[in-house]
Formats: sequence, structure tokens, C-alpha cells
Amino acid sequence: MKISTFFIRVFSRNSWAKIFLVAFCGVFIACSPSIENSASNTTTTRQDQKEIQTLRAAMSKVEPFFKPMGKPEAYDWLGSYNERGQTFDEYLESIPTLPTIERKTIYVLPIGKFTPQQRKIIDITAGYLEAFYDLQVRTMRSQPIKRPLNAKDQRLLKYSKAPQIRTGYLMDEVLKPQLPNDAAALIAFTSDDLYPDETMFFVFGQASLEDRVGVWSLARLDDNAGYDKFLLRTLKIAAHETGHMFSMRHCTKYECVMSGTNQLAETDRRPIDACPECMAKVCWLSEITPVARYKRLAEFCRSNGLFKEAGDFTRKAAAVSNS
Ligand SMILES: [Zn+2]
Ligand SMILES: [Zn+2]
Repeated sequence: MKISTFFIRVFSRNSWAKIFLVAFCGVFIACSPSIENSASNTTTTRQDQKEIQTLRAAMSKVEPFFKPMGKPEAYDWLGSYNERGQTFDEYLESIPTLPTIERKTIYVLPIGKFTPQQRKIIDITAGYLEAFYDLQVRTMRSQPIKRPLNAKDQRLLKYSKAPQIRTGYLMDEVLKPQLPNDAAALIAFTSDDLYPDETMFFVFGQASLEDRVGVWSLARLDDNAGYDKFLLRTLKIAAHETGHMFSMRHCTKYECVMSGTNQLAETDRRPIDACPECMAKVCWLSEITPVARYKRLAEFCRSNGLFKEAGDFTRKAAAVSNS
């Protein structure tokens, strides 16, 4: 299978990293934030330490809900890429990019034409991001793609002749000029197929945290697999990519929504939730307690017909209720 590519550039006050991401994304190739840099530890307050202890207690309570990462299957992400993962402690030490008082809203922008089913899935995904990260999510009014596009911003795929749009055009010329000041991120969804440059067959999406914009395509997620699978794939990819925008690296400890995936079959095997280590990172960046987060996710899933997932979140909320 042809592998697609993501590029994400990460910038924060204290560090910046250029991340080269393949398929749904994920290999660090240059100057990622130093794991060894533990300067932030010296500045954690007593309140921080208490919160960290609470999160560690919750982590052990939800561990039974997750499968440890097994040996990779053929064409799986970890069969192709040797990643060391990132624990909660390593995340704290990495001085992650976090939402700020001024920038704590995730904006979702639908671009182009959508079927009623795709539109419904975007709306549900926006709600899931809100529950998952406990950040306000605003869905902007959908916008058409202004055509005709310049030749450098579009192409026909070599064999199928399917039209594609260059991600750099959408990010630089469509998203950046309308980035709200209070945006933690501006995430666009499109039904058009995407490519980053002439060297690549396609990409699922591309993001720049330095500029706080990203675009993801639904084109390859909807392979006639049915509504439920299409929805779950979109929820997983949105939660995963947004995690990267808050400096979360790929997870290798558990089967986790933050684990790298090389193919849709691998995505389908992953849960829609973050493992104990990654749950602690999300709660840390969102400043929400695990029990409040799980209850919120359970309610969200119940109200959107995801009853199995709602049950799982309810059981996790019960497990951490005393931590
Ligand atoms: Zn990734
Ligand atoms: Zn994880």
C-alpha cells in the first residue's frame, strides 16, 4: 500500500519541533522537544503535584480497560516504525503546548460539499472533540472551495484521474487568513481528496501547530464500510490529530487512540479513547478530572447512539470515582 504523509510543525514558547508524519501520522525526524529537559519539574506547584498524584491514581484504576500493545500485525505502524512512545511523566517533562486563557477554543470549519451523512459526522466529531478535550468547540459556517483553483493547487490522481487539492493551499490561503485570535486550533474537514506535493500519492491530512491550522479529508475514510465505522474512524482521527496539536506523541504502551496507524484496518482496531497514560495527559492539558471527563464522554456517546462506548466510559467513570 502506498503510504501517505502528514507534516506537523510544533511550536511553543520553550521548544519547537518539526514532525514528519506518515499515514495517519507520526514519526519524529528532527529536533523534537527534549525528553531529557526536566526544567519544568522545578516549577511545578504543590497544586500541580497534587493533581499529578490524583491522575496517577486514576491511571492505575482504568488500566484494566485497555489492551497492552501487542506484536504488530503485517503493515501495522509499529512494524514499520520503531517508536518509543511517551509516558505521562515524559509528556510533563517535554514542556507541552497547552491551551491558554487566550486560546482555548477549537474551531471546526467544513470546507467544500458534503453529503448529509458526512455533514452529520462532522457535527458529531466536533461534539466529541469538545467532550474529549473539555475545550469549547465552535463549528464555523461551511465554506465552498473557490474555483477555479490555480494549477499548482490541484491535480488529477495519476491512475484514477480523481481530483485532489493541495493541502498547502488550504492551510496557507484559506485557513490562516481567517484564524480566530482565540483559537487553540482551526481544524478544517473536507470531502475532497488531498495531496501535500508531487512526491506523494495522497494524504489524509496535514497540520501546522505553529500556525494552529490543519485540514483533514473524509474522502478515504468512507470506503463503503458503513455509517458506524465511518463515524468511529473520524472520531478517532480527530481526537488523535488534536492530541498531536497539544504535543502528545504516539502511544506504544497500549492499544490507544494516540497509537500510530498505518492503514484503516489498524485504525478500526483502536479504541476511541485514550489509554491511562494518554488520559492523564488529556486531563492535565484540559484541567479536568478523570471522573468528570469520563461522565461527559459517556453522556456524549449515549446521546449519539454510541451505546457500547457509552457503557465503557460509564464503567471507567465508576472506576475512578474515588480518585
Ligand atoms: Zn499520529
Ligand atoms: Zn495511549
